[in-house]
Amino acid sequence: MKKIFLSKESVSKEEKNINLDERKMIRAQLEKLMALSSRDFAHYQISLDPIKGKIPKDEKVEIIENSILCGKEEAKKLRNQFGDLEVSEIAKNLGIIIEHNAKQSALDFVYFGFFETPNNIFIFDSNIKQAEALLEELNMNDFPVDFKDVVLAHEIFHFIEEENKSLYTNTRKIKLWSLGKIYTHKSKLRCTGEIAAMSFARTLLNLNLNPSILDYIFVAAFDFEKADELFRRIIKSTI
Ligand SMILES: [Zn+2]
Repeated sequence: MKKIFLSKESVSKEEKNINLDERKMIRAQLEKLMALSSRDFAHYQISLDPIKGKIPKDEKVEIIENSILCGKEEAKKLRNQFGDLEVSEIAKNLGIIIEHNAKQSALDFVYFGFFETPNNIFIFDSNIKQAEALLEELNMNDFPVDFKDVVLAHEIFHFIEEENKSLYTNTRKIKLWSLGKIYTHKSKLRCTGEIAAMSFARTLLNLNLNPSILDYIFVAAFDFEKADELFRRIIKSTI
């Protein structure tokens, strides 16, 4: 089973030089996104869930709060266990095998990293580099986040989820349909794990912003128009 880091965004892989107006706009949009809270981004994650329509409105706040808490607590456990150890070292200690892929075969969307059961994390270095290059182009070298660490931390959470079936993100289910009183069909949500993975990365790396913002930067590095659409979608989901 594959879990992807980036929301399924099909972006063109051609390298494009962005013009001055686009640069200004990306910077302005980035600044707006940097001001959003983890709860704002959680609403966006819910909006991406394939079964979002089945989530009762009055349960959303509980889902958001518990998913954020779940990620936070798992990160704290690792920090208690491993102290200040680097993320890649923590991964090794957990028995995770990290593979760095320089090139990506032709796929219709860009990967930055993914987790594959039971214990493999794939990191796409050149795609991450392209996102870092965008920040350089925007003169935002002081952006307070190491992309590779975020991608890795996010995927470590998916590993933990796979190992511990009693985690909130695994047990929180939504009723899809029922057959009278005899049978109720329930399903896991995708958004719980995604909200928690970002909250986990934020706590583990001690970041002062929600790393979900990387979704936008990663898309902007490849396709400005798609990034603009994504920006609007994120903002809309927070209203
Ligand atoms: Zn994920």
